[in-house]
Amino acid sequence: MGRVTDRRGDFCAWTANRITARNALVVLEDLKTRNMSASTSHTVAAPGVNVAQKRGLNRVILDKGWHRLELALTSAARYTGSVVAKVSPAYTSQQCHACKHTAPENRESQAVFRCRACGHTAHADVNAALNIKAAGLAVSACGDLGISRSLKQEPVSRATGRNP
Ligand SMILES: [Zn+2]
Repeated sequence: MGRVTDRRGDFCAWTANRITARNALVVLEDLKTRNMSASTSHTVAAPGVNVAQKRGLNRVILDKGWHRLELALTSAARYTGSVVAKVSPAYTSQQCHACKHTAPENRESQAVFRCRACGHTAHADVNAALNIKAAGLAVSACGDLGISRSLKQEPVSRATGRNP
């Protein structure tokens, strides 16, 4: 039991370090506003990271503990100066990233997103991640995140290939 918990912590720390080292902004769904037992998919969107490649990882993270990852990301971000933004999870899985049409029917299944308005088709997690990323970029662009980030930022020699 203890071993499983420890490995889970290592995995979260490793993942958080990788994500924050490569991204100035990490966007998470704010899951406090959602009924956890009813939710089916939590997505982390990191600009500069291929969301399609991340979706398998997302599923692992969901199994291993979302809150742990969030804590690890917040902790790791202190060293890289990355911003961890949280956005509302409302409709991120129902809205078409291409045309913004929002309807429950757009999500055909756990994996398949197909917009009823424009026909845009994508993996459901990828479509949701793109919506989350867009929301996070909007929040960080119009808020004071940039200011607090520069004040708190520490030397970032560890961070390479960052993509603001
Ligand atoms: Zn559409």
